[in-house]
Amino acid sequence: MSLAEKDLSPQPLAPAAHGRVYNFNGGPAALPLPVLEQAQAEFLDWGGSGMSMLEISHRDKRVVRMVDGCEEDILGLLGLGPEWRAIFLQGGASLQFAMIPLNFAPDGAPADYVNTGMWSDKAHKEAVICGSKARIAASSEQDGFTCIPKKIDYDPKARYLYLTANNTVRGTEWRSFPKDAPAPLVSDMSSDFLSRPLDLSKFALVHAGAQKNVGPAGLTIVLIRKDFAETGKKGLPHLLDYRTYLSSNSMYNTPPVFGIYIAGLVMKWLKGTIGGLANMAAINEAKAARLYGAIDGSGGFYKGTAKEDSRSLMNVTFRLPSPELEARFLAEGKDRGLHGLNGHRSVGGIRASIYNAVPPEAVEALIAFMADFQKTA
Ligand SMILES: *Cc1c(COP(=O)(O)O)cnc(C)c1O
Repeated sequence: MSLAEKDLSPQPLAPAAHGRVYNFNGGPAALPLPVLEQAQAEFLDWGGSGMSMLEISHRDKRVVRMVDGCEEDILGLLGLGPEWRAIFLQGGASLQFAMIPLNFAPDGAPADYVNTGMWSDKAHKEAVICGSKARIAASSEQDGFTCIPKKIDYDPKARYLYLTANNTVRGTEWRSFPKDAPAPLVSDMSSDFLSRPLDLSKFALVHAGAQKNVGPAGLTIVLIRKDFAETGKKGLPHLLDYRTYLSSNSMYNTPPVFGIYIAGLVMKWLKGTIGGLANMAAINEAKAARLYGAIDGSGGFYKGTAKEDSRSLMNVTFRLPSPELEARFLAEGKDRGLHGLNGHRSVGGIRASIYNAVPPEAVEALIAFMADFQKTA
């Protein structure tokens, strides 16, 4: 049976029946159960090859087709035309913090950065290390990173404007992107990639570590406009030059085959079972609305940390009245099968990551627990 024919139909998540938990991890994070089950079913013999996907050559025609198919599915889901490519890299989102300035703002060239918290701060600092004239064009630091900045001070000479689409640590997300930037937009979408339809007409590059919304750690997906890639600095080491990935279809050296394979199954799930990114966005909006509703309706017991107009649909961050109650909340939540609710270690508090693969049932289970916990607190 080919991958496309295999039924990835939705299955209500019944964690107990699978010995599994409700997984709210920030990353690596939940994957769709049908995807995991398919990978399990064909683990020893992928597509009749008599080999595991971990053993087969990346030059095998079937694997090459699988990798090409994953790229096609990503571009198709986003409705991107032939001016775009999706390429597969290693090194995580963090290597992109360096590759982007090395290619596109080399030798002291200017680039604008919007600082909305830890990940954009790291990206900016890495650009400085790489010798770019990287400048903070907007920041929400004064607001404790509780929001997306409203005003951006553009440098007309900047080679690109860099922003972090979803701030995994702080629970803020760009609901719409700057329309008047003089430079093309470059964005880290690690934690909201493929969570909603996107208008990428102002963008030149999007990067995403797979382990939040798309697949296993070790795979990084980059969407890049071909014409932008051509403007990159020449003479960089091969693996740091985006053109290497374009001209080799991500096969210059051994790509992270297993990660691409799982990502490919996730694409089939997004297309077939979910029915595309508009449907995915509707599901994600409904989940987030339910959870923020529970927080806002708790009479101040649970307090959201992000300003309302900047709230993330992916990472819902909130506090309880005291650190002691938060510790108890996390422990008792675990007893109820609610896993990974601790905030990022740099900020503490509670964070429910409700990525694509976290089903509405998981959110409902969390909401029921929150109500029960409040009564006993
Ligand atoms: C997790 C995360 C990163 C770091 O990704 P790595 O793949 O571990 O380098 C970067 N940016 C954002 C927005 C993230 O959520």
